[in-house]
Amino acid sequence: MERTLVMIKPDGVERNLIGKIINIFEEKGLKVVAIKKLRLTKEQAKAFYIVHKDRPFYESLTDYISSGSVVAIVFEGENAIKKVREIMGATDPKDAEEGTIRKLFGLNKEKNTVHGSDSPESAKKEINFFFSESELIAAE
Ligand code: UDP
Repeated sequence: MERTLVMIKPDGVERNLIGKIINIFEEKGLKVVAIKKLRLTKEQAKAFYIVHKDRPFYESLTDYISSGSVVAIVFEGENAIKKVREIMGATDPKDAEEGTIRKLFGLNKEKNTVHGSDSPESAKKEINFFFSESELIAAE
């Protein structure tokens, strides 16, 4: 069993896609361990995406992520990290496979609707970014 962090980005929240997106993950067998809606400050967005601090898209990405509400979700399941990445699809919705969340809903390479942790190390870090230990309720 593995846990991973999904964040529904502002373009997904704004277009009322929270339920649809959670449903797609649930139908693939992933279970919600924790969930919250919040608005990140610019500083928090910069901290969340610190690994990209030297990339040309860092300023624009962190402006966008702090421009509206996001929904953070911890999912649990077998191979949850890889599974979530597959269900999300490629970074650029144009390159994403049919049926993936980014293909279905992504607007462009930046406003691509969802984030998912890319490794066990980043999953741990990102889960701790949003949630305290007592907020994580093991799936039944
Ligand atoms: N991003 C962007 N322009 C790019 C590459 C990435 O705006 O050229 C944004 C996009 O929102 C992406 C996030 O930065 O989801 C993190 O990039 P990463 O390469 O880690 O992609 P991901 O793991 O989200 O597919």
